[in-house]
Amino acid sequence: MSKISATAPESPTAPSFSTLPAASMQQEAKRFDMDDIFNSLNLGVCVVDADGKVLLWNNWIAKHSGIKEADALNRQFEKVFSESVSPAFLTALKNTLAYRLPVVLSTALHRTPLPLYNAFEVNQQQPRMYQSISITPIQSQLNEPCCLIQITDSSTSIKREKILRSHSEILKKEATTDSLTDICNRRFFDAHYEMAVADAKRQKHPLSIFMIDIDFFKSYNDYYGHIAGDNVIKQVAAALKSQLSRATDIVARYGGEEFVLVMPHLPQEIAEQFAERLRNAVFNLVIPHINSAPFHQITISIGLCTGIPKNSDNMLNKADAALYQAKQKGRNQCISLPLCEAEEYLQQ
Ligand code: GH3
Ligand code: MG
Ligand code: MG
Repeated sequence: MSKISATAPESPTAPSFSTLPAASMQQEAKRFDMDDIFNSLNLGVCVVDADGKVLLWNNWIAKHSGIKEADALNRQFEKVFSESVSPAFLTALKNTLAYRLPVVLSTALHRTPLPLYNAFEVNQQQPRMYQSISITPIQSQLNEPCCLIQITDSSTSIKREKILRSHSEILKKEATTDSLTDICNRRFFDAHYEMAVADAKRQKHPLSIFMIDIDFFKSYNDYYGHIAGDNVIKQVAAALKSQLSRATDIVARYGGEEFVLVMPHLPQEIAEQFAERLRNAVFNLVIPHINSAPFHQITISIGLCTGIPKNSDNMLNKADAALYQAKQKGRNQCISLPLCEAEEYLQQ
């Protein structure tokens, strides 16, 4: 680093340190060699002149760039590095020099503007250090416009931020996912259902609600045990989920051995065909269930309600009414009630 001293030049007649009065000694003790300070800082400090040439380059930058001060001084800042400097950094530097306005580069948008490394080793491939950079206009003692570039290592705070974000994503997923089946849970369903109904009302498009229940499941548990029962719930959930392909469709565990599907933009006929696909997907699992006559395997019953909801409509109740009919008619089947018919059925 070029020599800059915070102390006044020593006069030949200046008294020696030991002969100074106590107050002067104290004052003298507060003066330091600026080189020492610059080079001991735990941040990068660099000054460039109006032409973008490097005037100061402290030890921190030398250490993290692998470029010695002597190789950086009086060279164009971006040409000092063998690797590229980000265009955003160069634009910020140019703007600070031209308009004399300080700039702080956003760490979220510009994580690694300069080719700096945590532990610099030649020819070693490693990711760049995350950096937080500010560029400040300053003036030399000759009133020439210069820029002070300060760089700090933001790796730790970015890593912490990433960990916090991933923790919050895990928590969010856990709060909305059913732990047994890994499909959406009731809490997610409740919120999603409200939005789906509101959307369908506003856009006047048909919405389909499928209520699904595993047939004779109590006797399955009684015969095969609760753990085997859990395993069936998982397989049924996976089979139902495998039938969904649109981002707007969801399947959730409604509770116990009951599931619910919400699918927008399905005309009645297509929704009915889809219900058959769901029923078949579970039937084709061929899970033995000795106490489920006449199929002797795991089956599901489905209640489907499709229509454009109005304010007074409760589609869930109507899909549930359809499911009740499917159970009464012998199970392993789907009963579809268009929204208006379901209304009549409920009023009986
Ligand atoms: P239906 O065909 O009329 O639906 O008869 P069902 O026996 O399935 O109906 P019911 O509601 O009487 O029984 C549901 C059973 O589901 C009761 C309970 O033992 C079982 N069940 C509910 N939640 C779980 C669960 O998380 N794991 C297991 N293994 N069983 C569950
Ligand atoms: Mg049930
Ligand atoms: Mg059941």
